[in-house]
Amino acid sequence: MKVGILGATGAVGQKFIRLLQGHPWFEIEALGASERSADKKYKDAANWIEDVVLPESIKEMTVRNCKPAEFGDVDFVFSGLDSSVAGEIEKAFASAGIPVISNAKNYRQDPTVPLLIPEINPDHTELIKKQTFTKDGSGWIVTNPNCVAVPLAISLKPLYDAFGIQALILTTMQAVSGAGYPGVASLDILGNVIPFISGEEPKVGPETRKILSTLEGTTLAKPHFPVQATATRVPTINGHMISVTAKLEDPPSNFEELKAAYTNWKNPIGDLDLPFSPKKLYKLHEEEQYPQPRLHADAENGMQLHLGRLRKAEVFDVSFVAMAHNTIRGAAGGAILNAELLVKKGFLK
Ligand code: NAP
Repeated sequence: MKVGILGATGAVGQKFIRLLQGHPWFEIEALGASERSADKKYKDAANWIEDVVLPESIKEMTVRNCKPAEFGDVDFVFSGLDSSVAGEIEKAFASAGIPVISNAKNYRQDPTVPLLIPEINPDHTELIKKQTFTKDGSGWIVTNPNCVAVPLAISLKPLYDAFGIQALILTTMQAVSGAGYPGVASLDILGNVIPFISGEEPKVGPETRKILSTLEGTTLAKPHFPVQATATRVPTINGHMISVTAKLEDPPSNFEELKAAYTNWKNPIGDLDLPFSPKKLYKLHEEEQYPQPRLHADAENGMQLHLGRLRKAEVFDVSFVAMAHNTIRGAAGGAILNAELLVKKGFLK
């Protein structure tokens, strides 16, 4: 299928370009960005920050304006657009019959838009049928969650299924790549921790509850557990770590039962063999010093969820740390997996 990338010059856009090289189903046909970049060769418009050489096939491509009329040759678009512009642009594409698989926050809480993590809520794709961007249903929007909500929801799902969740307290340790480019000034973050990330904490609870919702007919029944989140920026490059303490509805009686929630959990898309699926979704680290972002964020092409320090909590019931690659599992890679699921389910054709 021929794909376009909106916001192709940004940090997430560049990750899309890198990850889509050699993809068995998707081929990059069009790149879009702001009018500052439009009509330039990609190599002149983008400040390439990936740690591989800019692919030859991309260098000379001309960046387009993010207007649907300029993307008539693609089957769908991935969006890594800045949220200040994503709302209008993504709506224009969906209304023109071009499906949008987005990373931006603008439509995440729309009741007709799936906040999709294929292993966690694949059935939420049914919501697409309620969207009214086009009369014939050809244009729609699917979003992936914020880069903290992704590892949080994945790490919670087996606990939620086995024991129920009553309340969460968590602190994030978020890598600098999560702030885009140029992001946080080096003099602010090197050798330092910043205990606040603007706009981050209010997204964590609502997104996690939406992801863990049950689809009833064509609406979502949401859980109500409160989430107390503290979002901090730390001087790691890739991989967001979260320290989580959970109060459960029906806590396990011992550690083996707790661990079994993960080892016995069945991945609902495990049989689909999607190209971007990690072979093993959960890596349960027994060693107390793991997981670590530098050692583990890239495992299974950056698509694996790392879980460690799983233990009974003194306050509430269970504590653990979760970690995943923020621009791969938490952004571009997650969106590519979303698109693969949507192909298998017949929404993309
Ligand atoms: P970024 O590096 O600042 O890139 C923003 C992109 O948006 C650039 O390609 C930029 O093009 C384009 N853009 C800006 N204004 C535009 C306009 N008026 N019309 C068309 N295009 C315009 O940001 P990022 O970190 O890649 O994040 C992109 C999106 O993904 C954001 O919504 C962010 O919240 C979300 N996200 C990021 C992460 C992460 O870990 N970084 C994770 C999950 C979700 P120009 O180069 O031409 O200005």
